[in-house]
Amino acid sequence: MNIALVAHDARKKELIEWAKYNLEELSQHTLFATGTTGRLLKEIPAPEGMEPAFPLAANTTCLLSGPLGGDQQIGAMIAEGKIDALFFFCDNLIVQGHQNDVSALTRLASLYNIAFATNRTTADMILTSPLFKDENYHKILPTAIENYKNRVL
Ligand code: PGA
Repeated sequence: MNIALVAHDARKKELIEWAKYNLEELSQHTLFATGTTGRLLKEIPAPEGMEPAFPLAANTTCLLSGPLGGDQQIGAMIAEGKIDALFFFCDNLIVQGHQNDVSALTRLASLYNIAFATNRTTADMILTSPLFKDENYHKILPTAIENYKNRVL
């Protein structure tokens, strides 16, 4: 699966702890992350007995930093059907300088019906759901998208 990951500064520690808890599973997917989040994911060391030394280094692509366009890059990938799930640990206590980008990204994740978590419990449940890796499960694009494309003007 193609998984996008973003964490605001106040929640990076939480996302990295979550990633460590799910390291083996995450190493089996293709990850795309905003710049700093991605760097931290790549730097997670393997626990004893696990190879390679940095399990997410090879399968993580770092995009631009969120405030510098990374959120928008992920949004575009969602709109193009290239992302299956978004794990977005946002800071809920402050308004971001790039709040417009945050809103745009969450709107597209919702619109395109991808699996979407903004907290650790939901992220755990998505990642461990049998449906997540079921090749026969296909997400349904909302009819509103086709209706919008075909609207009469
Ligand atoms: P970052 O971006 O991973 O580059 O810090 C996250 C964000 O603030 O959107």
